[in-house]
Amino acid sequence: MNRKMKPESLMMSYGYKPELSEGAIKCPIFQTSTFVFKSAEEGKAFFEVAYGLREPHIGEELGLIYSRINNPDLEILENRLTLWDEAEACAVFESGMSAITTVLLEFLKPGDLILISGPLYGGSDHFIRKILPKFGIHVVAFKVGQSYDEIIQIVNETGMADQLAMVYIETPANPTNDLIDIEGSKNIARHFSTPEKEIYLAVDNTYMGPLWQHPLKHGADLVLYSATKYIGGHSDVIAGACLGSNELIKRVKGLRTFLGNMASPNTGWLLLRSLETLKARMDIQAFNANKVAEYLNHHPDVEKVYFLGNLTESNGEQYAIKQRQCLSNGGMISFDVKGGEHEAFVFLNALRLIKLAVSLGSTESLAEHPATMTHIDVDDNLKQQLSITEKMVRLSIGVENHEDIIEDIRQALEKVHKGKVHETEAMENGSAYN
Ligand SMILES: *Cc1c(COP(=O)(O)O)cnc(C)c1O
Repeated sequence: MNRKMKPESLMMSYGYKPELSEGAIKCPIFQTSTFVFKSAEEGKAFFEVAYGLREPHIGEELGLIYSRINNPDLEILENRLTLWDEAEACAVFESGMSAITTVLLEFLKPGDLILISGPLYGGSDHFIRKILPKFGIHVVAFKVGQSYDEIIQIVNETGMADQLAMVYIETPANPTNDLIDIEGSKNIARHFSTPEKEIYLAVDNTYMGPLWQHPLKHGADLVLYSATKYIGGHSDVIAGACLGSNELIKRVKGLRTFLGNMASPNTGWLLLRSLETLKARMDIQAFNANKVAEYLNHHPDVEKVYFLGNLTESNGEQYAIKQRQCLSNGGMISFDVKGGEHEAFVFLNALRLIKLAVSLGSTESLAEHPATMTHIDVDDNLKQQLSITEKMVRLSIGVENHEDIIEDIRQALEKVHKGKVHETEAMENGSAYN
């Protein structure tokens, strides 16, 4: 068979040889800390390659040494993950944050400047703004909607443009679904690169998962995932991944070996299992999200819906970016309920099927209140600028039947509506609280 198979067809078998595991159809959990060498000579050869003391001979693979360096569950998982993004290499971690922080520590050094998009995931934002400066790393940020020229100017105005070492973005932005141009961001990195120093672009692609956006194809050098989200997809594991060229991932894995923040064999095994249904799950989630957004768009108690599917040509640049880099409308919807925090909380407390929890991308639908939960740390001015207000609710759409999800939203919005009618009546009777 010459035709190249799609990743979803390979998720059950790619990279695993049953004959090496007693014929087991599934890769077992290699719950082992260390591996026995056949001979001292073999051990020596494995170490030489692992520590980069010599290039591997043609066809020579990295031998199994110790589970902080490599483990079959991790290697097979990494190989399978490369298929979605068509990356050369992948490194998996025990959390999304460990993937992100390892990349930042590997590619930045004291005196460097990092350019970030805003808003970033709270954990990433905290690490970049509060922890990296302790190591002498400077930070400058741009916002959604700023043009190429404006961003170049922001960097120049720092007076440290020649120290720029990395551009780090997250798109779509959480929770508003605003888009950042990946290709445009790489062009900014190129603008400040010199023949001696290439400035890398890293993209946190968690929100779209490995199916709906492929940053490497648009110029990104590194793609990062919280594998806790779509990749894991069952709300039962914390993990992360980083993908890119062999050259860059070799550096990332090098630091990972010394930080010791690789994923465990058990995490690797859980993610291998999750990957088998990744496409099926995400297809249903995207289908459901379109249905839910359509319902919210026409609901009289909903003021505004933030969903990629709502972008039209009238949205100009945002629509153009979506057409270029997004393969789906995704599974994340935010909306403003008419009213404020009270109405948003009535809605959240009334949900029955949809669970009130942070995180995203899992089989079950989730709802949360960004202003007081995931984005509580964002300063008030910026929150207003980004439209992260008290009336906003964020939904992560799961794989349930779409009619049941919509019915749950309908009955919860009805409670909001009744509450408002009740309050108005009470006010007319002279007391707001009887
Ligand atoms: C959850 C998340 C992270 C952090 O991942 P963990 O697996 O929780 O460490 C990073 N970026 C984004 C966009 C996320 O949603």
